[in-house]
Amino acid sequence: MSIFNRLLVATLPVVPRFIVGRVASRYVAGENLEAALATVRALNGEGAMATLDILGEEVKERDKALQATDEFVRVFAAIDEQKLDSNVSIKLTLLGLKIDEGFCRDNVERIVAAAKKLGNFVRIDMEDRTTTDATLRIYRQLFDRYGNLGVVLQAYMHRTLKDIGELPRAGANVRICKGIYVEPRPVAWKGYDTVRANYLAALEKMIEQGVYAAIATHDEYLACQAVALLDKHRVPRDRYEFQMLLGVDAELRRILIADGHRLRVYVPYGADWYPYSMRRLRENPEVARHVLKAMLSGR
Ligand SMILES: Cc1cc2nc3c(=O)[nH]c(=O)nc-3n(C[C@H](O)[C@H](O)[C@H](O)COP(=O)(O)OP(=O)(O)OC[C@H]3O[C@@H](n4cnc5c(N)ncnc54)[C@H](O)[C@@H]3O)c2cc1C
Repeated sequence: MSIFNRLLVATLPVVPRFIVGRVASRYVAGENLEAALATVRALNGEGAMATLDILGEEVKERDKALQATDEFVRVFAAIDEQKLDSNVSIKLTLLGLKIDEGFCRDNVERIVAAAKKLGNFVRIDMEDRTTTDATLRIYRQLFDRYGNLGVVLQAYMHRTLKDIGELPRAGANVRICKGIYVEPRPVAWKGYDTVRANYLAALEKMIEQGVYAAIATHDEYLACQAVALLDKHRVPRDRYEFQMLLGVDAELRRILIADGHRLRVYVPYGADWYPYSMRRLRENPEVARHVLKAMLSGR
């Protein structure tokens, strides 16, 4: 990323909210479920699967966590009714993890049970390091009971290879990503190439253990090396998928689909778009150009 872009990233918190909203709208499907379902339908039409995410995190009130739980149950019903090819990704801090782990597990269980009735699947996103142990515990407990859920591991975490070694022996389904939260050096690898190397080591270990691999990246180098690993280990097409975020590198998405890989797009929606959008903007190598354009456009 250029120095100018880095500078702008540092000042993003003081950029007016409406400018952030304008630039970040490409990453978010809209404020309501109808808009999100329309985006999923369009993606399905392009040969991509989807995973729907309701934006929001770190809730401190039980009511809000219960509302989000109800909404996820409604999302599964809508996917089924409209015959869309989509599952759902959930964040445990939206479902009350920071209030009480047992309360959160009950909420997740309600969502997983609703999905199971409809033959669908729930992915638990991974948040910052303060949530990793509890996330893996809840995943493990509900996996043993229901089976139709997967989790996420982050290549920047030192612990990831060990966590892969402790996954369920049959039926594990794991999204591997680089990791988005700012973690300290004692727990997370910091170098760009170091994280890439650990990503590929993690992916290879997952493949060797028979884990269904959800390969989440927009890094062309990683996509290319992942294809080589899948080929080396003769992984069948239905034992892995690529995953990308809405609004990021649609060209790479089309290339992977055209090459015959299954690919799923992460489709977030909801009123609480700000923290998610800020994380996406910080990763955008051309953030300065987009922000300046939005400021000058005067819309
Ligand atoms: C489907 C999916 C689910 C995810 N779930 C989680 C999760 O549960 N927990 C978690 O910690 N992280 C999650 N992430 C985020 C992930 O950890 C990385 O932060 C993110 O994917 C960037 O890493 P990268 O592999 O794409 O490589 P990068 O090196 O960051 O990006 C590679 C290239 O992609 C392009 N690019 C990347 N981001 C943008 C952007 N915002 N705008 C425009 N271009 C961009 C650029 O050209 C860049 O050079 C998820 C990512 C994906 C794709």
